[in-house]
Amino acid sequence: MNALSVHKQYSLRQHNTLGFDQLAEHFVVASNDQQIEQAVALAHSNKWPLRVIGEGSNIVLTQDIPGLALHLGDDTIHYDATGTAHQTLVSVGAGANWDHLVHDTLLHGLNGLENLSLIPGTAGAAPVQNIGAYGVEVKELIESVRAFHIGSQQWHEFSKDDGDYSYRHSMFKKNTGQYIISKVTLSLGQQHALKYAYKDLHSYLEECHQMPPTPQQIRDAVISIRQSKLPDPDLIGNAGSFFHNPIVSTQKSAALKQAHPKLPVYPVDTQSAKISAGWMIDSLGFKGVKQHGVGVYEKQALVLVHFGDASGERIIELANQIIDRVQERFGVQLHIEPLVI
Ligand SMILES: Cc1cc2nc3c(=O)[nH]c(=O)nc-3n(C[C@H](O)[C@H](O)[C@H](O)COP(=O)(O)OP(=O)(O)OC[C@H]3O[C@@H](n4cnc5c(N)ncnc54)[C@H](O)[C@@H]3O)c2cc1C
Repeated sequence: MNALSVHKQYSLRQHNTLGFDQLAEHFVVASNDQQIEQAVALAHSNKWPLRVIGEGSNIVLTQDIPGLALHLGDDTIHYDATGTAHQTLVSVGAGANWDHLVHDTLLHGLNGLENLSLIPGTAGAAPVQNIGAYGVEVKELIESVRAFHIGSQQWHEFSKDDGDYSYRHSMFKKNTGQYIISKVTLSLGQQHALKYAYKDLHSYLEECHQMPPTPQQIRDAVISIRQSKLPDPDLIGNAGSFFHNPIVSTQKSAALKQAHPKLPVYPVDTQSAKISAGWMIDSLGFKGVKQHGVGVYEKQALVLVHFGDASGERIIELANQIIDRVQERFGVQLHIEPLVI
């Protein structure tokens, strides 16, 4: 068992896609289960709070991180040798880059993850907010999640049902800070019908005369659509969608639609509907706004950006202005999607 290297006053600038320059009081990389246990014991014996940081694509750092920031280093991908093209279990270390996993599984002839192409972040973080895009959520593919419970210092193997997954939510998010996910097992293969009914994806594939598409064509289409809409975090700091699309009652959505006929409304069930946060923010004139080194992305009002020399507090100030204006104009409460630290 290799000893952990503990870095002190470690800059997290390269560990958050918004690019805020905050420090971790202590920072370690744990590459296997024993090192995870060691890191927890280290934090415990020093009474340090412990926080897991993946690629930092879903966090907003507004301050330095006290105690211990733990990054997971296991990026191995294991394909169950008894699997078939129809169904194969794929176990991935929490430190693997998510999009590399999507690419690798398609190379192995296994479909399922293609719609989730180019989502930044690590495999270990994917179950936390049940990542989703273009009509697919990762919960549909999760077989199990291996995680260490910090309080009891016990390992658990959580089945799909234990994860209690819903829209951008899970048992792990509900209990933020209590579990360290070390491995995720996915069930992939041809038992998953390809999904391309999502409007933008469908139109793109039709225009490219790729009907019915292959899994790789779906991946290429998703990458192309995402690149045209979302800023690349390597070029401009961002955390993807900054607000959840609010879910309101069907009565509320009908009243809003009557007052604002162009507001996109997506039925969720008979009781509720999802409304477009981006449309509301755009209609208030925020798209392209810049202030104090942060702003609203010029092509997509749902994405807040950092131009390189501001602090996380500035982006939260801007987010609060947007939240207040949306509340005033539409009577709808917006919620920030990334975790504010
Ligand atoms: C440009 C852009 C586009 C995006 N598009 C999408 C999208 O389409 N759909 C979508 O769902 N999300 C999207 N996101 C959000 C983000 O990519 C995902 O939430 C991703 O899963 C976060 O991974 P991460 O490794 O960066 O996690 P971090 O941001 O480092 O961490 C997020 C949370 O997960 C916890 N965590 C991380 N790893 C572990 C672990 N191993 N064990 C326990 N807890 C852990 C952290 O403590 C933190 O609470 C986007 C982000 C960006 C920047």
